[in-house]
Amino acid sequence: MYLRIIENFISNNTMGLKNNIEKFDTIGDNHIGTSTETPMRADAFKLSADEKIEIIKDDVQHIMETLGLDLSDDSLKGTPNRVAKMFVNEIFGGLDPTKKPKASTFDNKYQYGEMLVEKNITLYSTCEHHFLPIVGRAHVAYISNGTVVGLSKMNRIVDHFAKRPQVQERLTIQIVEELQKVLNTKDVACVIDAKHLCVNSRGIRDIESSTVTSEFGGKFKEKDTRREFLDYIQLETKF
Ligand SMILES: [Zn+2]
Repeated sequence: MYLRIIENFISNNTMGLKNNIEKFDTIGDNHIGTSTETPMRADAFKLSADEKIEIIKDDVQHIMETLGLDLSDDSLKGTPNRVAKMFVNEIFGGLDPTKKPKASTFDNKYQYGEMLVEKNITLYSTCEHHFLPIVGRAHVAYISNGTVVGLSKMNRIVDHFAKRPQVQERLTIQIVEELQKVLNTKDVACVIDAKHLCVNSRGIRDIESSTVTSEFGGKFKEKDTRREFLDYIQLETKF
């Protein structure tokens, strides 16, 4: 009897666990984000970057060994350390808030009151559901209310938030919210057009599809302003 209860208990719980795994597998494959903030642990920065690299190096080694790879091979030997450094310092470096581009702004001395668009910003990010690359372009615009930023600052802000495990919707919103803070205006917009390698190279394997997301703040919610921005980003720029 007891054994039966325990067996049932175990099987129910394993079923629950299995259902949960399947549920979250599905959520991930549908690329549904749950928050505009990157979900971070409270102790995210207790370890130094170097300590994280040491731990991740062992984890990557473990994955490779589990896959059956021979890490004594010269070609594979350096991979765990290389991947660990790349995760912490490069492709996920934007998790570290101290690496956020400094918000140096200038007064709008030219009294330029029209829209400023920075288009075709190259974007490399990583899908947080599959840890595969997202590659595309971001287009960012704002209308100054007296403050302007250096043009490259917009590229740097895109790059900072892209260097995190991401869903494209959240990335788009984070870029807009950061620029709204820096420029002290709601009048900021961002459109991202990107390919997700988890869609292009696996799963449905649709090499042609790309994903477009947009976030329109303040005046960009108005039809004409939004239209103007969308017209600018369709301009073909040739040099
Ligand atoms: Zn994905």
